[in-house]
Amino acid sequence: MSATNEPLQKENSAAVKEVLAANASYAASFGVKGTLALPPARRFAILTCMDARLDPAKFAGLSEGDAHVVRNAGGRASDDAIRSLVISHKLLGTREWFVIHHTDCGMQLFTDDIMRNLLSRSLKTAQIDENGWRNTEETGGSQEARFIAFLPFASLEESVVEDVLRIRNHPLVSPEIPVYGYIYDVKTGRLQEVARATEAGKARIGQAVTVAESSVAS
Ligand SMILES: [Zn+2]
Repeated sequence: MSATNEPLQKENSAAVKEVLAANASYAASFGVKGTLALPPARRFAILTCMDARLDPAKFAGLSEGDAHVVRNAGGRASDDAIRSLVISHKLLGTREWFVIHHTDCGMQLFTDDIMRNLLSRSLKTAQIDENGWRNTEETGGSQEARFIAFLPFASLEESVVEDVLRIRNHPLVSPEIPVYGYIYDVKTGRLQEVARATEAGKARIGQAVTVAESSVAS
């Protein structure tokens, strides 16, 4: 086993070459970032979509070491997103969370049924046109998608409210963490609050009962 970063594959793809070149120049000026602490310095976390047009570091003004950013398709409050957020607070001290969905999200373009049907017949990239999604060739897919909830949504604002509420009501989430709901506009780069979501995600301070209080009460 080689301990160097020499790639095992002799012929790198263009993407691999580009990433490694960019990384070499990033690492060359890494400076004091090597001394950053593990817990996020600004003590908040963002849950957002994986959409390539969103750059949370830029749109939210983050530097290395500042905040946790949890990303998945849609920025949905999936079990796995909640797993990360629970770790973010419980072990790494974040105290405020943002749920940020965005306009023109791909999650509004399909349903579980459409996705399962496409995948049952082909694993290759599908295409969308005015008649909806279709496979370009049907080379054999898998029924396994029946067991996955892909978490698409029809209403952008509702999806933010729904996810903030799911996080707010999760038994492993401290009631003291405020959860804010926002929509990022891919046309302008602006964040717009979803007031209903932020309202629903308000911290419930005072409901947390300390161990000492609860033992006195019982
Ligand atoms: Zn998206």
